[in-house]
Amino acid sequence: MLKTVRSVFLKPGKEESLKRFHPWVFSGAIARVEGEPEEGEVVDVYASDKKFIARGHYQVGSIAVRVLSFTQEPVDHDFWVRRLTVARELRRAMGLIGDPRTNTYRLVHGEGDNLPGLIVDVYDRTAVMQAHSAGMHLDRMEVAAALEEVMGDTIENIYYKSETTLPFKADLVSTENGFLKGGSPENIAMENGLKFHVDWLKGQKTGFFVDQRDNRALLERYAHGRHVLNMFCYTGGFSFYAMRGGAALVHSVDSSSKAIDLTNQNIALNFPGDTRHQAFAEDAFKYLDRMGGQYDLIVLDPPAFAKHRDALRNALRGYTKLNAKAFEKIRPGGILFTFSCSQVVTKQDFRNAVFTAAAQSRRSVRILHQLTQPGDHPVNIYHPEGEYLKGLVLYVE
Ligand code: SAH
Repeated sequence: MLKTVRSVFLKPGKEESLKRFHPWVFSGAIARVEGEPEEGEVVDVYASDKKFIARGHYQVGSIAVRVLSFTQEPVDHDFWVRRLTVARELRRAMGLIGDPRTNTYRLVHGEGDNLPGLIVDVYDRTAVMQAHSAGMHLDRMEVAAALEEVMGDTIENIYYKSETTLPFKADLVSTENGFLKGGSPENIAMENGLKFHVDWLKGQKTGFFVDQRDNRALLERYAHGRHVLNMFCYTGGFSFYAMRGGAALVHSVDSSSKAIDLTNQNIALNFPGDTRHQAFAEDAFKYLDRMGGQYDLIVLDPPAFAKHRDALRNALRGYTKLNAKAFEKIRPGGILFTFSCSQVVTKQDFRNAVFTAAAQSRRSVRILHQLTQPGDHPVNIYHPEGEYLKGLVLYVE
């Protein structure tokens, strides 16, 4: 059955960004919508001169259309299979598929894989799928079917986890989390030879912060003999790399006691009985205020301080305040790994915030590495907003 695709007409001149393949249509660019598309329905976008420009998922909200294609190809089973195959081949090219030491990676990164609104993370034999748009939610069963076809028997379970990521305004029936395929409770995955439990049922994001893989591996190289503070540790990712890197002691801190439990479990999984590690459930600012100057390797990986542009100024102040505390306390010759995962904070904004903090401490600070997200979180060159993770590795005299 062929459904008629409804049309969205843009105001004059508003097609420019789409002509440069930017994948979003903002609601303010729309002159009129023909028919009454449902939220999540596939629509065609036309310029004011009635020329076709793009096809994508419609949604009520500031981003009104998320582009799936710049041609009028049908969005059907073959479409999903083609897109997911490209995504899989990219990860294969990176050496992530079939690597005996790493079975955790991001298979689909939204706009970065020309699939706006869709995230898929792979943990060993389980794929965790997350929809950030009404359209991906409506198409979830088709996406899951294509995922089965593309990944074959390497994936036994597909878990759908969108309860907290879907737009609350959309009138969507049933957004419950649950298995779309399989149902195995087996939840131990591996990254660079280190094991960890993934709480895809209740954990943050899809259960693990896959995006810090390369940065954790870099930290391992700096850890030898150091006294490490892993602030905002969540499941303890940076901590178990520091342990393997030969740190003298590792302290993990997170305000969530659940995160602290997960961290302890993961340390026990890799380093049973190792007394170098301790974890504390405490607020970051309180801990940084009361701690002494014992650390010479500090990781600051806070949650996004700014989720929206309006919160930008406060967020930048937050980054400055946080980093200032680390500069104040870190031992001479110390290494600071500092991050921001707020999409609205640019690389330069973040660097300025850290610069201000460094200047306040009056210490000599050098940038050793400038970090970002790994290749399985690719940035679509036409959608620079997709570059969200920023990090600096600093040497503090
Ligand atoms: N570094 C982690 C990811 C960090 S996510 C990794 O590699 O996996 C951010 C973490 O910050 C969350 O676990 C959250 O519980 C914690 N958090 C949020 N606010 C906090 C605060 N004020 N003090 C301490 N931890 C906080």
